[in-house]
Amino acid sequence: MIPVAFDYKVAESVEHAIDLLRQNGEDAKLLAGGHSLIPIMKLRLAAPSMLVDLGRVDELRYIRDEGDHIAIGAMTRHCELERDQTLREHCGLLSYTASLVGDPQVRHRGTIGGSISHGDAASDLPSALLALEAELRVKGPSGERTVRAQDFFKDYLQTDLAPDEVLTEIRVPKLGSGTGWDYQKFNRRAQDWAVVGSCVVVERSNGSIGSARVALTNMGATPLRARAVEEALAGADTRSLEEACRVADEGTSPSSDVAASAEFRRHLARVLTRRAVEQALQR
Ligand SMILES: Cc1cc2nc3c(=O)[nH]c(=O)nc-3n(C[C@H](O)[C@H](O)[C@H](O)COP(=O)(O)OP(=O)(O)OC[C@H]3O[C@@H](n4cnc5c(N)ncnc54)[C@H](O)[C@@H]3O)c2cc1C
Repeated sequence: MIPVAFDYKVAESVEHAIDLLRQNGEDAKLLAGGHSLIPIMKLRLAAPSMLVDLGRVDELRYIRDEGDHIAIGAMTRHCELERDQTLREHCGLLSYTASLVGDPQVRHRGTIGGSISHGDAASDLPSALLALEAELRVKGPSGERTVRAQDFFKDYLQTDLAPDEVLTEIRVPKLGSGTGWDYQKFNRRAQDWAVVGSCVVVERSNGSIGSARVALTNMGATPLRARAVEEALAGADTRSLEEACRVADEGTSPSSDVAASAEFRRHLARVLTRRAVEQALQR
């Protein structure tokens, strides 16, 4: 299908993008990689009157070591997350998760900022950012602010971003040697979206789990933290893992669709979380 007609402007900088958003009101939308926005415009599920293209705003494209964390510009593409040596060394979970997004074409166009701002519960990167307890930097006409990833996703395709704000940077903590991680994504074909995904970060302590953070993909209207299983995993060891992971779907509200029933999604959440914790303990 062909989208509804729209105007198009190229932003020269973050400030310029904010100005264009402010001048054009709620119907203006930022364009990053276009791999979520353009498909929904073609389906006429979105009809912005103006697109503000961030494609030439190079100040938003970087991965930097900033001491205790890695700072990532919002226009950094999935393939850059996948390959960057600094990120692989200090926060391998995010590189690995990016490598499982779509196919090479999608990873060469899609950006981390677009993936997070779109706020789709079926996307992979939001779960990694929740499990990592990442922070997001947002800029708008009244200045800059920081939002915790866990406060960012509000409802189905709804985030904390105001219509005239730009997500500029994502900050992920460096993971220490006592920290294990994994992402288990269940899909029917290699390049598909997750039917369900489970992202796990564990702190190891004398052969058992000191603490665990678990975030689930496609188990509700937003990407979410699975608090019940996090509590059950604290102090668990390999023998008690299966029992602890039986509550991985507690507090979730998965939907039924052509890919899976809600009941099957609940089953997947339990199995994938157990597998992710097992892998995390070995890394
Ligand atoms: C065939 C196909 C398969 C895919 N498979 C997967 C998959 O397996 N897993 C997965 O996670 N994703 C998948 N995707 C989605 C892909 O990862 C997208 O790239 C991503 O969701 C959106 O990023 P984008 O840069 O393309 O954003 P865009 O589509 O350009 O924008 C998405 C939304 O974010 C807003 N936005 C963009 N940047 C900013 C910013 N800096 N500040 C504020 N708002 C902003 C836009 O206004 C828009 O509303 C797939 C896409 C396709 C087409």
